[in-house]
Amino acid sequence: MAELAGIKALNTQKNRLLIAIDGTAGAGKTTIGQMLSARLNLNYLDTGAMYRAVTLLALQKGVSLAPPDEAGLTELARTLNFVSRNATPEEAVDQRQYTVLVDGRDVSEDLRSPVVEKWVSVVAAVPRVRSELVERQREISLNAPGGIIMMGRDIGSVVLPGADLKIYLDASPEVRAKRRSKQSTDKTQEEARQNLEKRDRVDSQRAVAPLVVADGAVVIHTDHLTREQVMEQVEAVLAPLLVK
Ligand code: C5P
Repeated sequence: MAELAGIKALNTQKNRLLIAIDGTAGAGKTTIGQMLSARLNLNYLDTGAMYRAVTLLALQKGVSLAPPDEAGLTELARTLNFVSRNATPEEAVDQRQYTVLVDGRDVSEDLRSPVVEKWVSVVAAVPRVRSELVERQREISLNAPGGIIMMGRDIGSVVLPGADLKIYLDASPEVRAKRRSKQSTDKTQEEARQNLEKRDRVDSQRAVAPLVVADGAVVIHTDHLTREQVMEQVEAVLAPLLVK
C-alpha cells in the first residue's frame, strides 16, 4: 500500500489505487503523473512510450508504415521487450523524463526523435497493436504494488475504465508546442505545434480507442497553471480517496 507522511492511499475495496491520466500531446500528463507518483509512492507508466517503442522497432526493422503492415506491427507489439524506469541523474542531463529500455538497450532519446513522432499515431491506430499493448498495460497495473498511475490517451476509457481517479489534461496548441519544443528534438516551436496538432487529429479520429474525455474524468486546462497549481487541483479530487 502506498504511504506518505502518515497518509494511506486506500481504495476501499482493493487496497489499491488506480489513477488514469489522459489528454492531448504536451498537456503535462507525464509531469503530473511523475509528481503524483512521488506524492503517493506509486509506480507510473507512460503508455505513449510503448507505442513509440513499436514505431521505433518498425523503422529499424523495415516493417512498412505506409501502408501499415498490420501483421508485422502487431508482431512487434506482441514481442515487445519493454522496461521503463526513472532516469538516473547522469541520464537526465538530456532532459528525458524517464528511461526506456527496449531489448535491454536505452532508446529514450530515439523515442523522442521527429521520425518516431511522425509515425507513432499511424502505429497506434492499428487495432491489433492496441489490443496487444492494452493487455500488457493491464498486466502491468495488476502487478504494480499498491496500484499505478498510468498516462496515455485511452487509459480512463479503455485500459482502466474502473480507475479510482480519472484526470484529463488539456492546453492550447500554442502552450503545448512551447512545452514540447523544450523536450523533444523538433527544431522549432512551429514544427512542434504542427506535429502535435496532426497527432491530436489522428488520435481523436481513429476508429479504435480514440482520444476522448472518459466518463467521470476531471478535466483540467493547464494553459495558465504552473505544475504546482495543476497538482493542487489534482490533490483536491484525490483527497476523498485518501484516508488518514
Ligand atoms: O504521450 P505520447 O506523446 O508519448 O504518445 C505518443 C502517441 O502514442 C500518441 O500521439 C498516440 O498516437 C499514441 N498513444 C495512444 N494511446 C495511448 C498512449 C499513446 O494511442 N494510451
